[in-house]
Amino acid sequence: MIKHFRIFLAYFGLGYGRAMILIVLGSVVVAIFEAMGVLLIFPLMALVVNPAEAISSGMIGRLYDFVGSPPIKVFTALFSVIVGAVYLGRALFQIGFTRWQYRLIARWKIAICYRFFCKFLDADYGYHVQRNSTRIISLITTTVELVLNNFMYHIISLTAQIITATLLCLSMIIFHPLVTVVVGIFFFVLFQFQNTYIKKRIRDVGGHVAQFKAENAFAIQQALGAYKETKVNLKEKYFRTMFMSANKRLMDAEGRLLFFQSIPVTTTEIIVLSVVIIAFNMITVAGETSQAVMQSLAVIVVTMFRLIPTVNRSLTSITFINSAIYPLDMLVKEADAVGFRAGATDAVDEAEPPAMVLEQALSLRGVGYTYPGAAQPALRDINLTIRRGEFVGIIGPSGAGKTTLIAVLLGFLRAETGDYDVDGKRIDDQRIRSLRHSIGYVDQQPFIFDATVMENVAFGVEKADIDRNRVEQALHQAQLWDVVSGLESGIDSFVGENGKCFSGGQRQRLAIARALYKQPSLLILDEATSALDVDTEQRLSETIRHLKGSLTIIVIAHRLSTLQACDRLIMMKDARIVDDGAYEELLQRNETFRHLVYASQVRGTDDRDRRETPIDAVLGCDDSPEGQ
Ligand code: ADP
Ligand code: MG
Repeated sequence: MIKHFRIFLAYFGLGYGRAMILIVLGSVVVAIFEAMGVLLIFPLMALVVNPAEAISSGMIGRLYDFVGSPPIKVFTALFSVIVGAVYLGRALFQIGFTRWQYRLIARWKIAICYRFFCKFLDADYGYHVQRNSTRIISLITTTVELVLNNFMYHIISLTAQIITATLLCLSMIIFHPLVTVVVGIFFFVLFQFQNTYIKKRIRDVGGHVAQFKAENAFAIQQALGAYKETKVNLKEKYFRTMFMSANKRLMDAEGRLLFFQSIPVTTTEIIVLSVVIIAFNMITVAGETSQAVMQSLAVIVVTMFRLIPTVNRSLTSITFINSAIYPLDMLVKEADAVGFRAGATDAVDEAEPPAMVLEQALSLRGVGYTYPGAAQPALRDINLTIRRGEFVGIIGPSGAGKTTLIAVLLGFLRAETGDYDVDGKRIDDQRIRSLRHSIGYVDQQPFIFDATVMENVAFGVEKADIDRNRVEQALHQAQLWDVVSGLESGIDSFVGENGKCFSGGQRQRLAIARALYKQPSLLILDEATSALDVDTEQRLSETIRHLKGSLTIIVIAHRLSTLQACDRLIMMKDARIVDDGAYEELLQRNETFRHLVYASQVRGTDDRDRRETPIDAVLGCDDSPEGQ
């Protein structure tokens, strides 16, 4: 347990670890109150049972003299008020102290979640490609909560309980060493039993709860995320079963955990009751007078009365702590994966590097990249220079490495071999941020917020700071204005979860408007027009043609109309660049290209299908050597 606590502090202390000292001090204060309350019962009992003897000597005697020897009854009343005040003081302090602890834990949770969130945002593309997003969500929302509530809170609670129990036992030792020893042995055995017999089971079941929670969330997301596919394929039963089994396992595990958590309360009650009976017998067997027996019993009963909840809480805390070991391990593993401990300041608080604009050219030299676990490289020896103002089209069959190449240009993937530089400057982590200021990018599957058109176009800008005119202009450029202006609330209309209320082509144009709103100097479109009809695509090509020259454009596209507008085409195949030249040049020297243009033209004249043939449909099935 101590080992885990050290690990916890090392990873997730975040400056809050020091508060543990205050917690220990506060717990000592509570324990002193507690012990004083118990110790004061003895003289109070003495005053009630045999007042004359009680005031004749010791502390009571001195106090009696100090307050000017009032009548015994008045003194007894006064003394009971003092005892009451001690209990009241304890209660008030406890309330304040508890409130402070909860607030501390709340702030601690905020700090950990925030740091995790920042680290997830900072984590490189490779990390996100391999992680399932529900797992990340459940880590931030559930696992941090589990660890803080079940591990951290109970470590604090256990510390407080142990200090209190120790002081209570110490005060009892003064009166009844033998009884204390017997009680001590009982509790020791109880703790040992808890530690050895059920510890492992609790750890296992705690692990199951954390794991099944994540699986449960995953099952729900899978089923509801694929709503249409589920219905069309009549697979409701499959997902019902998947959800049922995940949920059943979770609920069963939670039930077992609750059962384990309830065990200590019952066992301690039995043990404490036995201890009181044994103590009673020990005192009478020792042959003490009835007055002394009364007093001793009063002290023991009061001590036990305080000790029972203390021991109960300690045992419960141990259960909770054990149940949180697995989630803690999960958190630690994830923390290692995202570099949670590295870098004290969170990226958000760092000053942004100044914007960097492509002035002359960007170039890749000998760039290679292989995805983790992949058998073949996704990029091999890529040599490519793109000058400012060029309009470059990238073509090639699917799986050729086009998207991967873009991911390298955007700095999502770091080239494993070779160099990437812009205007002669090597692109490192700092420079890529500078460059991103001036990059407009449209993903193959653009993400659309569940927000208004305006907020989607001005991505991540505070509502008050959005330039509405610029939004409208971007929508015009993206050929989406006709659609948006026809909506009831115009640019203030909501687009639904992931743009549900828009068609595929409209979503793409929304994403293009987003890229243009940024007024980029480098525009990168990854199959951003694949879902558009020919007319819209041609109008968009027109817009892009107008932009040509003022900014650098890289498009991955399959449509001839877009490709004809390009200054230069780069053909990729099997992770390599296999040709690079103007449309006309490729037409002359590249057999594959000629073939595909021919095929597109033939099919393009078919009036029943106004969509042109995507180029990779032709490229993909053509295995002839590239013409020179
Ligand atoms: P394109 O965009 O040309 O269709 P990609 O660049 O997306 O192709 O993919 C190139 C190759 O890399 C493909 O063979 C693909 O299977 C592989 N690939 C893409 N993403 C990953 C990934 N996250 N992990 C492993 N392999 C990947
Ligand atoms: Mg792709």
